Amino acid sequence: MNVQGSRFVDYHCHLDLYPDYHKAFTECSRLAIATLAVTTTPKAYPKNRELALTTEHVRAALGLHPQLVAERATEINLFEKYLPDARYVGEVGLDAGPQFYSSFRQQVAVFERILRLCAEVGSKIISVHSTRSVRQVLDLIERHLLNSHCHVVFHWFTGTRADAKRAVELGCLFSINSAMLESTSRSAVVSTLPLDRLLTETDGPFVQVQGRSIQPADVERTVKQLARVRNTTSAEMAAALVANLQTLES
Ligand code: MN
Repeated sequence: MNVQGSRFVDYHCHLDLYPDYHKAFTECSRLAIATLAVTTTPKAYPKNRELALTTEHVRAALGLHPQLVAERATEINLFEKYLPDARYVGEVGLDAGPQFYSSFRQQVAVFERILRLCAEVGSKIISVHSTRSVRQVLDLIERHLLNSHCHVVFHWFTGTRADAKRAVELGCLFSINSAMLESTSRSAVVSTLPLDRLLTETDGPFVQVQGRSIQPADVERTVKQLARVRNTTSAEMAAALVANLQTLES
């Protein structure tokens, strides 16, 4: 993996959900964007892993999305099978939004199983979804991941300042996207996070920019916004983010 030669970081993107996903993978490498290709089901992992191995800047993550747990909970067995081979895990987590609340207990059971497995194998980097459930996610990280040498990266963190402080104390990082910086209250929370815990993400292709699906290359705009929030230059922010990634993955 070429971290040092990366210009930008997109640490949560569903490359396999773009219409031309081969192109999505090769674009990340052409543009030197260190990308974490998260998946929503374990079934999607082998193909993503294979494609990632052909590129210089993309890594593939093994996922089981909380919004799919209601239909896909049995795929946890496949998750377990692939986990020893996977350095990266995601998208996993909890979603207590109204649309998914009916499966919340099942989501908790699956997520706890995932965290226990990660702790057992050790040294995983985990991209975590926590919609309306930041505190429950923090409780589970505390319960299962302490001393596991696993690292959690909060994807699209929506917690309070107090939640953020707790996440920092638990060693978590945060992948920041544009939507988080467009909201004044979220951006205020982002401004309190330690610089060395920050990464960036697009969550493509689900986010729209200028009437099209966001691309990893759009992360450059997020770096600019983040630099403004943190009173630094875009170049310094970009370099800090790549350095954070290097530390995380070393
Ligand atoms: Mn996502």
